[in-house]
Amino acid sequence: MHISDNVRELQPSATLAVTALCRQLRASGKDVLDLSAGEPDFRTPEFAAQAGIAAIEQGFTQYTPVPGVQSLRASIAAHLSRSTGKSTDPAGVVVSNGAKQAVFNVCFTLFGPGDDVLVPVPYWTSYPEIVSLARARTVLVQSNTDTLKVDVAALDAAVTDNTRGLILNTPGNPSGAVYEQAELDAILLWAAERGIWVLSDEIYGRMCYSAERAPSVLDADASLLERVVLVDGVSKSFAMTGWRVGFSYSSPALAAQLTSLQSHITSGASSPAQAAALAAYQDEPRVHEALRAMVRVFRRRRDHAANALRELLPKADFPEPDGAFYIFVRVDDYYQPGRAGSIEFCNYLLEHTGVALVPGAAFGDDRYVRLSFAAPEAEILEGIRRTGELLHGIAAGAAST
Ligand code: PMP
Ligand code: GLU
Repeated sequence: MHISDNVRELQPSATLAVTALCRQLRASGKDVLDLSAGEPDFRTPEFAAQAGIAAIEQGFTQYTPVPGVQSLRASIAAHLSRSTGKSTDPAGVVVSNGAKQAVFNVCFTLFGPGDDVLVPVPYWTSYPEIVSLARARTVLVQSNTDTLKVDVAALDAAVTDNTRGLILNTPGNPSGAVYEQAELDAILLWAAERGIWVLSDEIYGRMCYSAERAPSVLDADASLLERVVLVDGVSKSFAMTGWRVGFSYSSPALAAQLTSLQSHITSGASSPAQAAALAAYQDEPRVHEALRAMVRVFRRRRDHAANALRELLPKADFPEPDGAFYIFVRVDDYYQPGRAGSIEFCNYLLEHTGVALVPGAAFGDDRYVRLSFAAPEAEILEGIRRTGELLHGIAAGAAST
């Protein structure tokens, strides 16, 4: 079959592939502890789901304006305004089919052949693929090994004459690292001085453990925001991954370009899903309550998982995540012939213990694996216990909560 150059090099999403494999193994009766999930194991808040159902029942099932229904764009802008204290313009909001499409829209619109895009490692698996789809080149930026974050010095070391963009992700997937406001400000100043666009993916922004939310690029001084695009959505904060609603927020001029692109690709997000997202953004107190309850559970799991990892996998190393629901664990001290590399390691683990993790290779660092704590706590601890037992021969039952 002839495959076009557009997609010849494209790899399927490694994160989604592990999730699909777990489903398949479970369906065939295998005992799988799935610690690979990239979505909250919580239900969409009932009132938001009901708004989606009501939309269908009331016949709100036709095309919407390409950048989203006006009330949703206005609610998102109002939400951004409330949370950052800045005035925002609904015309800057483009609602898409998930944050993933928002990232695609932005990259495809801003970057092209001859452009370099800086992507800090570890990165969310789709960034380099999306940059390639735009026929631009990904230039990887090494992060600090202790924090898994990049700073201006690291960006300086990677910048080229052709650098046109930088993709930031805070809180990070897979690192869980959260950039402080001062760190963001320094990076934004660095980028502004060089005319470099910054796409800040803040899809996990409200899933932060040390504060109500992570600092956002929109908190920075307005003078630094001319070439900044924020991406966010309902998938993670509101446990609405399957509804497929995300958005970008940028200057209205760029938003018009993004809209033009989207008009030829998906025509926009599904109308009932937009109605559900609208309910969530409009009823901030209710959604906030659901979110805080979810974050409390995630925080407890993170603490217990981190303790269990320290106890049962003493040769593994990880920065404690302050956001999102992943721990990026360095496991190369456990590599041996036959399992030297994150893919081999994860295959070995899955085969011998039924524990599913995502190989760090999917995120640009083969020394690591990603453990998701979007799973019941008992499964997380059992997964770590089995892993410790396999790798270390550490006695069962040592993982305490
Ligand atoms: N960005 C990051 C960092 C993610 O982890 C995800 C997860 N899928 C997305 C974007 C895409 O989210 P959505 O479900 O809204 O497309
Ligand atoms: N973002 C999630 C993850 O990293 C979901 C899968 C995906 O969209 O890549 O696992």
